[in-house]
Amino acid sequence: MTRTGWVWHEAFNWHNTGNGAGFFQPGGFIQPYEAFDNPATKGRFAALVEVSGFLDELHRIQVSEVSDEEILRVHTPGYLTQLEALDATGGDAGESAVFGPQGLKIAKLAAGAVANAVRAVLTGEVANAYALVRPAGHHAEPDRGRGFCLFANTSIATMIAREEFGIERVAIVDWDVHHGNGTQAVFWNDPNVLTISLHQDQLYPVDSGFIEENGGPDAVGTAINVPLPAGTGDGGYLHAVEQVVIPALERFRPELIIIGSGMDAAATDPLGRMVVTSEGFRAMSRTMIGAAERLAGGRIVFAHEGGYSAAYVPFCGMAVLEELSGKKSAVDDPYMQFFASYPQLALEPWQAEAIERAATLVAAVPDFRRTASATA
Ligand SMILES: [Zn+2]
Repeated sequence: MTRTGWVWHEAFNWHNTGNGAGFFQPGGFIQPYEAFDNPATKGRFAALVEVSGFLDELHRIQVSEVSDEEILRVHTPGYLTQLEALDATGGDAGESAVFGPQGLKIAKLAAGAVANAVRAVLTGEVANAYALVRPAGHHAEPDRGRGFCLFANTSIATMIAREEFGIERVAIVDWDVHHGNGTQAVFWNDPNVLTISLHQDQLYPVDSGFIEENGGPDAVGTAINVPLPAGTGDGGYLHAVEQVVIPALERFRPELIIIGSGMDAAATDPLGRMVVTSEGFRAMSRTMIGAAERLAGGRIVFAHEGGYSAAYVPFCGMAVLEELSGKKSAVDDPYMQFFASYPQLALEPWQAEAIERAATLVAAVPDFRRTASATA
């Protein structure tokens, strides 16, 4: 049986971020070039899945647009109106969230892809799923796009899981190298959604993602931030998952786990300064899949966020898909022969200290252990 769903649509390659250079649009002394968020960063992952033949091991899930009603469960009417007004020409949806003419439809497909992945898992069509989408979602706030993100894809999917399927508690674990500020903002005062973000300390946004941000007055303990020092590698990330994420999930007992599957903590990423390899992403994924099986009936959906190393992201992605599906592909990561001997892969004491500080937050996570075992 094919147990893993896969969502991708060629339109995600058509999301048009312009011909600027990195973060900036061309003009003045900015020579036209390509955006950090260019089609290759995700398109090549989809291409490797297909060319390697691994697509045959996955169950293709249809992509459809999210409705305006679904968008408005998370975003403000004013923001949607603003996007509609910009759609004829394209433009910036807020702060570094550029889209091209008629690009709104692509953003609705990206959010719909994550939603359909969640639906496929909750109906039992598949055991788990990976949604490879562009634009990403975790920086988008209720009233504006930010950081290459237009719609809060995983947040919209979370609302659908609750309203369509009666799911009570959802955990969103985001290991994109940047802070999941948008996801945190959406569920800041919502006690039924636990948001956990592992990220490089003060990378983007520079003024959020601190340990002290721990949830609103009605939801104290349901936002967890693990700001990691630049240079953290496989060992540090896995330690953070084991020491913070897993114990928090054991208390919160989510019925669904969504992973903000950013791959910009990868060793070759142009934006992050972390040292995670495909084996690191594999290990974190394996741990999370195990936790979902123990705590959430196996229900886990990976939703792609950032990741800007077009050459390396495909290999990180394949490692995650192998863990989800329980099958080995024909692809070996050719970079591991170099990365395997990097000293940065080991946990360093200063990283362990940062993780230890974040681990103190676990005791404040709402404790549903008794409730969950009584109804299991
Ligand atoms: Zn990112």
